[in-house]
Amino acid sequence: MLLDDSAAVVRSALADALALVLPVVCAGCGIPDSSLCDACIAALEPQPVRRVLDAPGGEVVLWSGLSFEGIAARVVRAIKEDGRTPLARRLAPGMREAFARLDAGDAVVVPMPTSRASYRRRGVRVPDLLAQRARLPVARLLRHARRTGDQRGLDRNARRDNVAHSLMATSAAGRRVVVLDDVATTGASLEEAVRALRAAGAVVLGAVTAAATPRHMNGRRPPGVAFETHR
Ligand SMILES: [Zn+2]
Repeated sequence: MLLDDSAAVVRSALADALALVLPVVCAGCGIPDSSLCDACIAALEPQPVRRVLDAPGGEVVLWSGLSFEGIAARVVRAIKEDGRTPLARRLAPGMREAFARLDAGDAVVVPMPTSRASYRRRGVRVPDLLAQRARLPVARLLRHARRTGDQRGLDRNARRDNVAHSLMATSAAGRRVVVLDDVATTGASLEEAVRALRAAGAVVLGAVTAAATPRHMNGRRPPGVAFETHR
């Protein structure tokens, strides 16, 4: 159960009710009468992207199911900003493929924690939802140690400073873990998660996300996509 307060339950019920009366359009291309058309479903076939995170204590490999652009970016935005959570299952194959590429064996995935504010706004914790849909073994070991400012508009170094020591991990000693998030942009948040998990004694075997910004637009906003990295 991802919902744990009454506001979120009401929000979810409203979203279900609205879905019955509002016309459905494809989240990838906008054509009517389909929540995701066949062409856009095909465009979400896993195309794993590999990056290396420069985390404190040593580099960590990040695998992502798709590049965060075009149809994939619009579908992620539909899930995160428009509450179209049933689409999360369409990103599950990419997440599973990304996890498999890490060859992390029996590791558990640790979702990035979401702020209370974004949880209230969305009614779900998107990283947890993605992990669930991908049927990956989840351990929620991370939480916020302090509030952080909005990441939008910050360059990589500023993002790093903004999130430094913002997370903490509990019950992580000796555990083999993979950090999981919806989208990687600069990687600063994931690197902070790796730091916190290592500080708590975990063995971090890598990171996975549904999508990652292509290297040429790291830290910049893909055209037409108003994504949000603030938690
Ligand atoms: Zn479409």
